[in-house]
Amino acid sequence: MNRGCVSLGDVQCGGCHRIVSHSERYLIIEEDDTTLILCVDCSLNKGYAHYKEDKGERILTFFSEGVGGEV
Ligand SMILES: [Zn+2]
Repeated sequence: MNRGCVSLGDVQCGGCHRIVSHSERYLIIEEDDTTLILCVDCSLNKGYAHYKEDKGERILTFFSEGVGGEV
């Protein structure tokens, strides 16, 4: 199950290993007994997130696993 979260400044990305800045969004991917944390850049690169245009604004949405919905 994937969940989109907002960092409190103490989260490290499991992809590029940088610290996710405070108030920056990130994605939690839970698979069986492992949890992967991805920053926005890595989520976009790996296809877990995309930007959606809405009324001229770019809105980041995360894909949730299985259902094809958005978080
Ligand atoms: Zn990253």
